[in-house]
Amino acid sequence: MSAPFGTIAIVGLGLIGSSIARAVRQALPDTRILGYDRSADVCARAQAIGLCDGYNAGFGPELASAEMVILCVPVGAMAAAATAMAPHLSPDTIISDVGSCKASVLTALRSVLPEAVIVPAHPVAGTENSGPEAGFASLFKGRWCILTPDDGADAAACERVAAFWQALGANVETMEAAHHDLVLAVTSHLPHLIAYTIVGTASDLEGVTQSEVIKYSAGGFRDFTRIAASDPVMWRDVFLSNKDAVLDMLQRFSEDLSALQRAIRWDKGDELEALFTRTRAIRRSII
Ligand code: NAD
Repeated sequence: MSAPFGTIAIVGLGLIGSSIARAVRQALPDTRILGYDRSADVCARAQAIGLCDGYNAGFGPELASAEMVILCVPVGAMAAAATAMAPHLSPDTIISDVGSCKASVLTALRSVLPEAVIVPAHPVAGTENSGPEAGFASLFKGRWCILTPDDGADAAACERVAAFWQALGANVETMEAAHHDLVLAVTSHLPHLIAYTIVGTASDLEGVTQSEVIKYSAGGFRDFTRIAASDPVMWRDVFLSNKDAVLDMLQRFSEDLSALQRAIRWDKGDELEALFTRTRAIRRSII
C-alpha cells in the first residue's frame, strides 16, 4: 500500500505529536515529517531524539508542502495554532487534529480556516505523561481513532486520514462530533475529574498525614493518583471545551453517588450488592 501522504506537518511535538512522528517513521518510512512546536526548547528536544525531517518554532513557506497538518496542541490552543499557520497553508492541505474534544475544536478551526478541508480525529490512546520524550511508536496500535468530520466533508480526504491512522495500527471509527463528546465525557473526562477530586480530598485531610496516604495507597488509590498526574493544561482545556457534556455526566454521577450514600446510611446491603454485581458484570464483559 502506498503512503496516504508524501509530507505531513505535526504541530505540537509533545506526547501525542511525538508518538505520531515515531509511528510514522516505523510504519510509513517514506513520509516526510515537518515538526512544529511554539516552544524552541521542545523543538530542540524533539530534534535530539530525531523525530522529524525539520523542526520549527514558527511557520514559514515550507508548510505549503504538507498534504496534511495534524494539530497536536492542547484543545484551547487549536485556534491560535491554526491562526498562526493560516497564511502559509496550501488550499489543498487537509487539516486534522488529535484533540480530546471535537465539537469545540471543529468550530474553532472552521472559524479560522473557513475554506479548509477539515477532518478532525481523536486517537483514544494516551498516558499521564507529556513532552517529546514521553511518546512511543506503538501508542496507537489496536486503539480506536475516532474521526468526526462534519456533514459534507470531503469523502476522499476522510479516507486518506482513515488510511493514515490505520497504517499506524489504529482502528478507525467515524461519528458526529457532539456524540463523540458525550461518549468521551463518561468514558474519559468524568473518570479524570473523579481522580483529580479524590486525590485532592486525600491530600487535604485533617488527622491523616501525607506519608500515611502514600504508604498505605492500595491499588485503587494508586490508580487514581496515576490518572490525577495527567497534564494540568490539557485537562483544564478538556473540561472547559466539553463543558455541557461533562456537566450532564457529573449531574448523573452525583445522583448515583447520593443513592449509594443513602444505601450505606440505611444499611441497604442488598442494594449495594446488586449494584456491585452489575458493575462487575460490565467489567467482565469488556475485557
Ligand atoms: P503535550 O503537553 O505533551 O504536548 C503539547 C505540545 O503543544 C507542547 O509541546 C506545547 O509546547 C505545544 N503547543 C502548545 N500550544 C502551541 C501552539 N499554539 N503552537 C504550537 N505548539 C503549541 O500534550 P499531549 O498529551 O501531546 O496532548 C496534545 C493533544 O492531544 C491535546 O489536544 C489532547 O487533548 C490530545 N490528546 C491527548 C491524549 C493524552 O492522553 N495525553 C490522548 C488523546 C488526545
